[in-house]
Amino acid sequence: MGFITAVGGALRDLKSMFVGLRVTGTNFFMPQETVHYPRQEVDTLATYRGHVELVASDEDPAVARCVGCGLCAELCPSNCIRVEAEDPPADSGICYPSQVGTEMLMPTPKFRVAPPSQAPVARKLLGYHLTYHTCSLCGLCAQNCPAGSLRFSSNVYFAGPGRSTFEIDLLARLRKQAGIKGE
Ligand code: SF4
Ligand code: SF4
Repeated sequence: MGFITAVGGALRDLKSMFVGLRVTGTNFFMPQETVHYPRQEVDTLATYRGHVELVASDEDPAVARCVGCGLCAELCPSNCIRVEAEDPPADSGICYPSQVGTEMLMPTPKFRVAPPSQAPVARKLLGYHLTYHTCSLCGLCAQNCPAGSLRFSSNVYFAGPGRSTFEIDLLARLRKQAGIKGE
């Protein structure tokens, strides 16, 4: 009885092994869905959503389309955007979200679309800082930017040893990219 039980167990194990080998063998000869990173890199990144980045103006690749309104920083639910911009002219009567205070505002219809007649007057952008390690990639900033100055990057191979790597000066990055392109 013990011998028959042992033989039965061995046969079950053997069957299991062949089932596993069949699965492995089938997949071994199928086209690969992945690449051998880092020897190879993916080049089809159209759907990849990396950290947000500034979009350059049509006139100058080193200048962002950003008008310094601060709306993105105000809408960001993770509080990970900091915009530095010159104050608007004193007599303009314009008050930007970034000047109202630090209280977080959730998106409301009045912020969703900026009609051309209410388009913000540009302020000179002095700095644009993103704390990427707290970003949830929700897209609120890019969706609501009245100047079309934000989009998701395809920076897929972005890695670093610590959090500071992911605290990005996006304006400096834009300028650097413009410099590289111009070389
Ligand atoms: S919402 Fe757009 S235009 Fe306004 S500060 Fe942000 S990036 Fe600049
Ligand atoms: S994608 Fe969302 S969480 Fe990330 S910076 Fe924009 S608004 Fe903030």
